[in-house]
Amino acid sequence: MILILLGPPGCGKGTQAQRIQQAYGIVQLSTGDMLRAAVASGSEIGQRAKAIMARGDLVPDEVVIGIIADRIAEADCAKGFILDGFPRTVAQARALDAMLGQKGLTIGHIIEIVVDEQALFDRIEGRAAEAGEARADDNADVLRNRLKTYHDQTAPIIPYYRDKGMLEQIDGMADIDGVTAQIEAILGDSGR
Ligand code: AMP
Repeated sequence: MILILLGPPGCGKGTQAQRIQQAYGIVQLSTGDMLRAAVASGSEIGQRAKAIMARGDLVPDEVVIGIIADRIAEADCAKGFILDGFPRTVAQARALDAMLGQKGLTIGHIIEIVVDEQALFDRIEGRAAEAGEARADDNADVLRNRLKTYHDQTAPIIPYYRDKGMLEQIDGMADIDGVTAQIEAILGDSGR
């Protein structure tokens, strides 16, 4: 099963993806985690991405598309995967469609975690405080930029998928278990 989790930064995509990974045994693919690992390793991609991520802007499409194309070709993705943080632009969504089409794969579910933005802002500020320096991109100015980036560049993928009749929305303001329950209700026993 291929699952896409959508929603603005701080909506809980990562947490939910980890839970689904455990419950369904399909691997979580977080482009944010992969890029942070690249930055930490000092690789060429990491060096390109570092300043962009620190500002809260998007890494160029061709970079993340390449990362995902390589990753989904690996053996542990054969059973399916959860995309967390990808696609983030309509160009990435189109590239994903093409990539999956070539492999004869289809997306099982696309779930948007719908949240209240002010509450989200408060939540991410809290996370930044907890994490200390762990996430350099989680301070208030950067967060504002991340939300703006989401509206300008990522939100257009919502109508892109809705027009294909593929979008399912859930209430992301429920508590963590409540959000998981809504996702599991959509996924049912498929692939578990
Ligand atoms: P995340 O952990 O998903 O919030 O991602 C952290 C940062 O990595 C983002 O603010 C972007 O700078 C970068 N990033 C992650 N995924 C993507 C993507 N699909 N396209 C472009 N940039 C991305």
